Amino acid sequence: MTVDGMGTAGIRHSSFSGWIDRPSDPAPALEGVVDTDVAVVGGGYLGMGTALRLAERGIDVALLDAQFCGWGAASRNAGYLTNTLAGDARMLAALHPRRLRRAIRFADSSVEFSNGLIERHGIECDYERTGNVIAAVTEGQLKRSRHNAGILVDAGADAEFVDGREFGLPDAFLGGIFERAGGLINPGKYARGLRDAVLMSGAKVFENSPVGSIRPGRAGIVVTTPNGRIRAERVVIANNAHSRDLAIAPPRMTAPLWVSLVETEPIAPERLRATGWTSRVGISTHHLVLESYRITPRNTILFGVRRPEVARGALGAREVDPRVTADLVRAFRQRFPTLSDVEPRRAWGGWIAMTPSWLPVVGEATDNVSYAIACNGHGLAQAPYLGALLADRLAGDAPHEDLETLWRRRPWFSPSPASSALAVRAAWAVDRLSDRLGRRESRSPDGSADPRTPHPRRSPFA
Ligand SMILES: Cc1cc2nc3c(=O)[nH]c(=O)nc-3n(C[C@H](O)[C@H](O)[C@H](O)COP(=O)(O)OP(=O)(O)OC[C@H]3O[C@@H](n4cnc5c(N)ncnc54)[C@H](O)[C@@H]3O)c2cc1C
Repeated sequence: MTVDGMGTAGIRHSSFSGWIDRPSDPAPALEGVVDTDVAVVGGGYLGMGTALRLAERGIDVALLDAQFCGWGAASRNAGYLTNTLAGDARMLAALHPRRLRRAIRFADSSVEFSNGLIERHGIECDYERTGNVIAAVTEGQLKRSRHNAGILVDAGADAEFVDGREFGLPDAFLGGIFERAGGLINPGKYARGLRDAVLMSGAKVFENSPVGSIRPGRAGIVVTTPNGRIRAERVVIANNAHSRDLAIAPPRMTAPLWVSLVETEPIAPERLRATGWTSRVGISTHHLVLESYRITPRNTILFGVRRPEVARGALGAREVDPRVTADLVRAFRQRFPTLSDVEPRRAWGGWIAMTPSWLPVVGEATDNVSYAIACNGHGLAQAPYLGALLADRLAGDAPHEDLETLWRRRPWFSPSPASSALAVRAAWAVDRLSDRLGRRESRSPDGSADPRTPHPRRSPFA
């Protein structure tokens, strides 16, 4: 495993991913003029899902990536293959009272679809079908979790409220919403497996081919890269947060955020079990901006997000800001006091695209130019599924009901709160305040903190 440099405090900061190395067999860059039926811009999960399905259906398709397929969030994410929708369930119910049930069905189907994709293509990605938990670290969050579990279950989600200790969560996590579908994967290996499947599918793949413009013309849609052009009947914009930089993409469709992950050194399995984490389930917290914690197959803990950064300037490769790393390590020390000697070893991050609705979006920017985004930091399962649904529509099928749920009639978007650095910082500050209040609640009557049970445990079923 190579990493791209040594950062502060002994943590190596990588500008790519900690999961895999870059592929050594890049597909050719686009040169000259190529004609095709469909051009897909961006080879992440969404673009690869679209291209794979089109190729499997015998449609002539070209897939272009600025770097290589899987370079983006696809290879960098935390590996929670989940039916979780981004955003607090109460907020989603308020924003989408008529769509929530259908959005949940979309998310459930995404996991089923991804399971099928992994099986069909024999992708070895260290899949552990543990499900995932949105967990509470304070009594206030626990109350909200119980309420939100009710909202989700009423709307048809395959979820339940669980007690932390009974379920096998680490001591600091009181309980939460267990979402049964999916589990944990190595997303780098998954992205690599999908890339192999696309390369073998008959799709024309061009890497190191950044698309600068997409312009409708008399001879079809013209997609331009530094050394070539594609003339296509139809184009799909699938470059996630980077769609912000394409003039033809609907304005305000995405607010890009840079989110970060840190990985520890390997930890002895008995020490991991002694934290109470016997379920090995993937955990994200119930904060406004989540913290995530998971065990990897190499018995390290991978943790992240907490302080996202709003995009300023180009969305290129970058390393994690050491101040963000330090804040994440502080959180890790707080949640895992018995692992205070465990050292963080490396850090990396990636761009996610937040949409104003917090749901995936799909539609047409103009005639024959489609866009699709299934991110909001939760697109691992959703993006390839949305890509396949869009491909089926482009192939002439009647739109699937899951596609209809997300289809936008007009390419118009309201501003997203995630585009404001001030709003993002304020969310972080509110989260820290709730942590502090939560810690005060957890102190014993004589004022001392109980190290084994950081928060009082009440049966959530009482
Ligand atoms: C640190 C991190 C942790 C995450 N954790 C999780 C998780 O645990 N679970 C989960 O469900 N989701 C998670 N996500 C989100 C998930 O990774 C994304 O939702 C998903 O990867 C989106 O897929 P995509 O294909 O839309 O975009 P991407 O994977 O970002 O792919 C976009 C592609 O477009 C290419 N591109 C960009 N501009 C151009 C251009 N002009 N021309 C050609 N190509 C271009 C890029 O090179 C890239 O390969 C996480 C994301 C990050 C960054």
